Amino acid sequence: MKNSQNRIYKRVVIKIGSGFITGQTSDSGTCALNRLVEEIYSFIRARNEAIIVSSGAIALGATKIGLKKRPVDLPGKQASAAIGQVDLMKMWERLCAKHGGIVAQILLTKHDFYDREKYLNARNTILKLLSLGVVPVINENDTVATEEINFGDNDTLSAVVASKVGADALIIFTDVDGFYNGDPRKNRDAVIMREVREITNEMKRAATSSAGCSLSIGGMASKLSAAKIAMASGVDMFIVNGKKYSCLSSILGGSVKCTKFISEQKMEGKKRWIAFGARVSGKILVDAGAARAIGKMSTSLLPSGVLLAEGGFHRGDIVSVFCADTEIAKGMVFYSCEDINKIKGHKSSEIHKLLCRRDYDEIIHKDNLVILS
Ligand code: GLU
Repeated sequence: MKNSQNRIYKRVVIKIGSGFITGQTSDSGTCALNRLVEEIYSFIRARNEAIIVSSGAIALGATKIGLKKRPVDLPGKQASAAIGQVDLMKMWERLCAKHGGIVAQILLTKHDFYDREKYLNARNTILKLLSLGVVPVINENDTVATEEINFGDNDTLSAVVASKVGADALIIFTDVDGFYNGDPRKNRDAVIMREVREITNEMKRAATSSAGCSLSIGGMASKLSAAKIAMASGVDMFIVNGKKYSCLSSILGGSVKCTKFISEQKMEGKKRWIAFGARVSGKILVDAGAARAIGKMSTSLLPSGVLLAEGGFHRGDIVSVFCADTEIAKGMVFYSCEDINKIKGHKSSEIHKLLCRRDYDEIIHKDNLVILS
């Protein structure tokens, strides 16, 4: 499928929120989901690939055990998810079987992305399923994901998955028409942004100011975070009103009113893992000169620009690089936290004198460094 910018969309991740799934109980909701699955299969029959990221386990589980509201406590959410995930998969199996399709369940947590080998393993499984013509249905593994290690929302999970499998596009189906440049409840001039090439501070403010209204179910802020991941990974991302539109070729072809975040770069695979998958084990604070050099001149991070290292990390770990209060980069370190604190502020030529060895000139080599802002 080609769009007006001549981009070809062959591998697409489709994120479907809890609202869409629970709406199934009404006739119109059932129709919308049936239509969407029909669209997914006509897309697949045209030699494309689709991966579904589906929420709804907690909502379905809570309803099944008679809860009036979605639980807020962790054990309650986890128990509901364990119950609801069964029904969620039964639903996808039934819907896809109508088209002769087979589905596969994949449950992931942030932990599964921390280790690069595990990360690549999950990716290979998804790619194998696609090659078999099976539709992977992915959700967060809510039953084991504790607060500290959960994605929390499937917007972010879907973007990380899209980045990981090298998808061409991510479509987030929600209940609003797209991303507004303000809160339409308060500002009558707020309009939908049809094309976004850069996420600005104004957009971040607009996303936070609309928190709490139906606009932000799933959260526009989390959709912006997802867009940031997608755009850095060569994935175009669409926010679409699933109640109005389901035709994938119209959405991807640009004839539907929605918001499209256009990706103009594609980070190399290892850098995508450093930026969006790996566990961050510590923090390095750098001075403004070093921040400029790594950001503007794409240099490696040298000891001379480092002010402090924190977190007790080891060589080979991933750390966040800060300049004052702003996180400016992430990277894989060549030295431990302890060693960096011994060589910080010094020239690389002095490393041997200070550590009695000199493994590398750089604290983080530019090949292992991802600039975030
Ligand atoms: N994983 C959660 C569920 O299946 C949903 C998270 C979300 O809605 O973003 O209920």
